Amino acid sequence: MPLDRGRLLSQCRVPPGTRVRLRDFDPADELSLEFAPVAGATPKMRARQLLEDSREQLGVAQELLWASDTHSVLVVFQGMDTAGKDGTVKHVMSGMNPSACEVHAFKVPSAEEFSHNFLWRYWQRVPGRGRIGIFNRSYYEDVLVVRVHPELLGRQRPRPALSGPKLWQQRFEDINQFEHHLARNGTLIVKFFLNLSKAEQKRRLLERLDDRSKRWKFSLADLKERAYWTEYMAAYQAVLGATSTAWAPWYVIPADHKHVARAVVASILAERIDSLGLSYPVVSPGDARAQAAARRQLLRRSPRSPSE
Ligand code: AMP
Ligand code: MG
Repeated sequence: MPLDRGRLLSQCRVPPGTRVRLRDFDPADELSLEFAPVAGATPKMRARQLLEDSREQLGVAQELLWASDTHSVLVVFQGMDTAGKDGTVKHVMSGMNPSACEVHAFKVPSAEEFSHNFLWRYWQRVPGRGRIGIFNRSYYEDVLVVRVHPELLGRQRPRPALSGPKLWQQRFEDINQFEHHLARNGTLIVKFFLNLSKAEQKRRLLERLDDRSKRWKFSLADLKERAYWTEYMAAYQAVLGATSTAWAPWYVIPADHKHVARAVVASILAERIDSLGLSYPVVSPGDARAQAAARRQLLRRSPRSPSE
């Protein structure tokens, strides 16, 4: 069966206004996502090919984005530890021009960041026109880790009147409005949830401990967070249901197989940027005349250096 990239995109997209049940999404999904073996090509080979094709498409799309100077692209990555956020960013972005793209990884906020409203630190990092900005973790941490560990709220000091479900509901509204504002002003927002299974996380954490070249990635904090798996999944479900909007949809990416996750993310991102229908700026008649004159001037031999 030929690969249908539009169908791939809609399979992962969370339709706005729906209740999400993560158990309906298989983190190890490999075959139904268009990668069924065909004519001797294994799912892995098909995924690698898609990644290659999408990278090329992304390179062209990025240049158009820069040249047309009308839009920016914000890509959000969320997922549990070891879900593959860093690796996906690295692989998907490798065909891009680094001058026009930036990656921001968000950690526990600093004292200064805690002293501001929760969206403040993200505001300063949104990409400018013509650029692609990648958030490796994002403002969604403020409705995920902070929801799972409400003691963090003590440092954020929301108004005392705000607590419980109402607080999260208000944050979802704030986020939707923030994203709406960005979208209305020319930012394409594409959000990926790398959906990893708990069993695969165990395998990856053990691999980090066993492989000397990966041990530096292991953090005891990962084990601590793993103990809250159920709470995180509940928080993710609430987030996906409440903040997948027409202007900033979520895509749930099966993340147990890295080759699948990388290929699907690259493909969806390339499709979404292409859907902006960007084109190279049209040269005005005045500029065209000036450029023709410049061309004539360049071609004229210089009397001072006739060899040119
Ligand atoms: P890592 O991405 O594995 O380097 O870890 C970064 C850590 O920072 C994770 O445990 C996140 O949950 C945490 N973090 C990121 N954003 C926030 C936030 N807004 N509030 C509290 N913790 C956060
Ligand atoms: Mg970590």
